[in-house]
Amino acid sequence: MSRWTFTKGLHDLGNGCLAYLQPDGGWGYSNAGLIVDGDRTLLVDTLFDKPLTAEMLASMRSAIPAAKRIDRVVNTHAHPDHTAGNALVADSEIIASLATFEDMKRMSEGVDPIQKIMTNWQNFGEAGAYLHEVMGSRFDIAEREHVLPTRHFDSEMDLTVGDKQVHLKKIGPAHSRGDTLVHVPKDRILFSGDVLFNQVHPAIVSVNIANWIEACDHVLTLDVDVIVPGHGPIADLNAVRTQRDYLQYFQVEARKRFDAGMPVAEAALDISIDAFRGWADEERIFITVANLYQSFGAPPPPMLDMMALAGRYRRDKMACGPGCTHQHHSHTHGG
Ligand SMILES: [Zn+2]
Repeated sequence: MSRWTFTKGLHDLGNGCLAYLQPDGGWGYSNAGLIVDGDRTLLVDTLFDKPLTAEMLASMRSAIPAAKRIDRVVNTHAHPDHTAGNALVADSEIIASLATFEDMKRMSEGVDPIQKIMTNWQNFGEAGAYLHEVMGSRFDIAEREHVLPTRHFDSEMDLTVGDKQVHLKKIGPAHSRGDTLVHVPKDRILFSGDVLFNQVHPAIVSVNIANWIEACDHVLTLDVDVIVPGHGPIADLNAVRTQRDYLQYFQVEARKRFDAGMPVAEAALDISIDAFRGWADEERIFITVANLYQSFGAPPPPMLDMMALAGRYRRDKMACGPGCTHQHHSHTHGG
C-alpha cells in the first residue's frame, strides 16, 4: 500500500524531495518533481500546458519559499506533457539528454504528428476525435511555446542541489529516445519519468520494448525506496517489476498472435488484460500491439487506424459506465 494518496498537487516525500501528481495519470496528466536543499532548487519536468504549469509552480512556491526561484529544470524526455510548460521557467538552466534535446528541437520545428492531428482534429476522422477528446480538448495546446534545454549530456550527469547529489542517467531509448532517470541516492528517491507508468497502461508509440524491459531491469538494481513515476500514483520497485512483467507479457502474447497471422486489431482484443484491470487508458492496447507487430517485422502500423480503434474502444467502455469490468473482448483466450 502506498504511503501517499493519489490526489492532485504537491506531496512531500521528505528530505526536500516533493512530487506533484495529476490523477488519473492518463493521456497528458503527468507527474513532476521538486528537489530542494537550502535555497537551491531543481524542478523535474514541466506539464502539458502553461496554465497547469503555472498552477503547479504557484503551489510549489506557497509550500516551499525557495521555489520562488527555480535554478534548474531537468526534462526527463521530450513529450509535451513533460516539457510544454518550459516557457514558464525559461530563465532557469534547462537540462536534458542529447536525444531528448534533439527530439524537442525537431518538435519545435513543427515535426510533431500528434500535435498536427490535435490542432486539425476535425480533418482526421475518428483518430482526430479521439486525440481531441483525450488531449486537445483538455489542455491548452494552441499556445505551445517551445523552450528548449540550454544544456545537454550524452549518457550521465552529476548535479548538486545545495549539498544534495543528484544523478542523471539517460536510459532510453525505452518509452522515448532520450528517457532520463533523476536519482537522489542519499534520499533513495527516483524520479523515473515515463520509464514507469504506475497503474496506467503505458503509452508505447514508436519505442523499443526490449530496451524498455532492460531499462526496468536497470531501475530494479537501484537502491531506492520511493519512485515518482511519469504517470500514476507514487510507487516503489514493485511497480517497476509489474510494468516489466506487463511489457514482457505483451511482447510474448503479441508474438504468438503475430506468428499465427492474427490481425493487429484482433490480437489486441484477444490478449487478456485481466491482470491490469482498473489501470487508466486501457485502449492503448491497440497502439501497443501495433508497435509490437512492427518490431516483429510487420509494416509500420497505420497509426491513424490504431488511434481510431483505440477511440472506439474507449467510447464503448465509457458508454458502459464507470463500473464496467468487461474488456470488450470478443472472446477470452483459453491460454
Ligand atoms: Zn512520455
